[in-house]
Amino acid sequence: MPDELLDRLRRFHDDAFPQYRQQFQDLVDEGQHPTTLFIGCSDSRLVPYLLTGAGPGELFLVRNVGAFIPPYDGSHGHHGTTAAIEFAVLNLKVQRIIVCGHSHCGAIKAMYGEVSPEAPNLERWLDLGREALLPVQPGPEALRRTEQRAVILQLERLMEYPMVRSRVQAGQISLHGWHYVIEEGEVHVFDVKTGGFVPASLADNSGTGPYHPYVEHDGQVLLDEL
Ligand SMILES: [Zn+2]
Repeated sequence: MPDELLDRLRRFHDDAFPQYRQQFQDLVDEGQHPTTLFIGCSDSRLVPYLLTGAGPGELFLVRNVGAFIPPYDGSHGHHGTTAAIEFAVLNLKVQRIIVCGHSHCGAIKAMYGEVSPEAPNLERWLDLGREALLPVQPGPEALRRTEQRAVILQLERLMEYPMVRSRVQAGQISLHGWHYVIEEGEVHVFDVKTGGFVPASLADNSGTGPYHPYVEHDGQVLLDEL
């Protein structure tokens, strides 16, 4: 049986790697210094390198189902996403944190339905997005709004990480809430001032904007029409 994956590995080494050889050598010699932590959904159609035009060494990536942020609480379980946030902020000293959801997100859709009893971990994981659910039948528009509300919810949770909050407030880290519309090839950027998402083609900033304490009146933005 042909092993297509093995063929691809060989092609990468033989055809693609040579043009990056020096770049990777430099990244090995000098270490990685990515300035951006990208937290994205695991969905295969979300391709961070394509979206951002980033190359090797530029993005510190965390991906999980739904692009969810676990609560900051050292006492429960092993949270890979939490560990990655701490490492990116404290060791790599990233300047930007992107939370990127997307259209047609299976995680968001799954929250409106039943999860297989064989997937208790997935069921629990989805709890991290449930506050974003709308009390309606999940049509296309409601799903899109839920996807966007889930991004805001994760940003709020990110601000509960003390090392993130202090750096955002000191202007050392900017937060970026993104909703990527797969079929349009466009990221919609959350603007914290208006509480809405603006297509990148119309936005004046890739981030949430100067941070004002919407977290203080927790829930208000989520309850408003987006
Ligand atoms: Zn997704």
